[in-house]
Amino acid sequence: MDLKDLYRDVILDHKRQPRNFGVIENADAHADGHNPLCGDRLTVSLRLNGDRIEDVRFQGEGCAISTASASLMTEAIKGKDRAAIHDLFTRVHTLLTDPGALPSPDLGKLAALSGVREFPARVKCASLCWHTLNAALARSAATVSTE
Ligand code: ZN
Repeated sequence: MDLKDLYRDVILDHKRQPRNFGVIENADAHADGHNPLCGDRLTVSLRLNGDRIEDVRFQGEGCAISTASASLMTEAIKGKDRAAIHDLFTRVHTLLTDPGALPSPDLGKLAALSGVREFPARVKCASLCWHTLNAALARSAATVSTE
C-alpha cells in the first residue's frame, strides 16, 4: 500500500465514521461555517477549560473531504491550547496550499489532507472546519475579555 492509498483510506474512514460528531450542550463557544463553492455547512462547538479545548464536536452536511477534515481536526485539537492549535492550523494550511510541503511527522493522521491539494477546488472544503474553529475561538476570546 503506498502513501496515497493510505491517505485515501484515512479520508474514507473519517467520512464513513466521523469522530466527535454532534453538538455540545451549553457549549462555551460555537460557530457556523459555510463553503458556498461546494455547499458544505458545519457547526463547531467547544468546551473550554481556560486556554485549553476540553471537548469539541462538529455537526453538519458536506462532502467527503469537509466531513473527514472536520473529524480529523476534532481528534487533533482535543486537549490542546490555543497556541498549539494555531501552530497546527498553520501547518495544515501549508500542507493544503504549498505543493512542495512535506507533512511533518507530528501531524499524524492530518497528513492525509496533503492529497487534497491535487484538487485545488477542494482546498476550501478541507479548510472550512479550521476557519470555523478559529471563528469559535475568536468569539470565546471576546467573551472572556468583556467579563
Ligand atoms: Zn466540499
